[in-house]
Amino acid sequence: MRLHVLTLSPEAFPWLGEYGVVGRAVRAGRVELRTWNPRAYTDDPHGRVDDRPYGGGAGMVLRAEPLARTLEAVRAVDPALARVVCLTPHGRRFVQADAERLAASGPSLALVCGRYEGMDERFVETYADEELSIGDFVLSGGETAALVVLDAVVRLLPGVVGDPASLADESFGGQGLAAPVYTRPSVWRGRTVPEILLGGDHAAIERWRREEARARTGRRRPDLLDAEGSPDPPPR
Ligand code: SAM
Repeated sequence: MRLHVLTLSPEAFPWLGEYGVVGRAVRAGRVELRTWNPRAYTDDPHGRVDDRPYGGGAGMVLRAEPLARTLEAVRAVDPALARVVCLTPHGRRFVQADAERLAASGPSLALVCGRYEGMDERFVETYADEELSIGDFVLSGGETAALVVLDAVVRLLPGVVGDPASLADESFGGQGLAAPVYTRPSVWRGRTVPEILLGGDHAAIERWRREEARARTGRRRPDLLDAEGSPDPPPR
């Protein structure tokens, strides 16, 4: 998959290629991550990409033209670009089902990071297939949001996570939250691991995990359960 990020801070992205399974996928060439800086595509002789908001008010707004030109440059090298996602605080809330959908959305994807007071709305209306928010808070720029989305998407691509079974019973995959996990030693600072996990009865362990997951979901995220208390399939 080719991932294009339109950003005024390309320096925020290289570390994505340096850690964990996502880093391995980037280094192995399973995903190609490319950043595009609108400053290089601006029509302004002084290289400016922002301007004052119409109607007055604080801050600056990212101009539509540099963003449009940058995206056109992406399309020129990658005509197969399947989807353009703008990161905005007023976008739809990004959830695991979106990560799954984007991971399956095609050979390439572009993420557009805003800055200042945001992007000129006309750019978003013209080019965005969708707007995503990573939560009800305001970041100073879309870069951290893009990193969140990229991490969540890339780890779902085929072959990125070594054992695909580890994706099967994760939180938000349709089973509510995942069950608690433990590792050695079996007694740590006086606290023991639940006995059942030490016994080797795999069917019983599976049952215990399902029950624990459901109980935890009921306590912490009842919104993920349906009226009967069963995990609700995630919204798609
Ligand atoms: N003035 C805007 C508002 O109040 O909605 C906030 C703009 S914010 C300071 C600058 C940029 O950060 C946005 O254009 C967007 O790209 C990004 N951003 C901020 N919060 C975000 C969030 N929760 N999810 C995704 N992107 C976000």
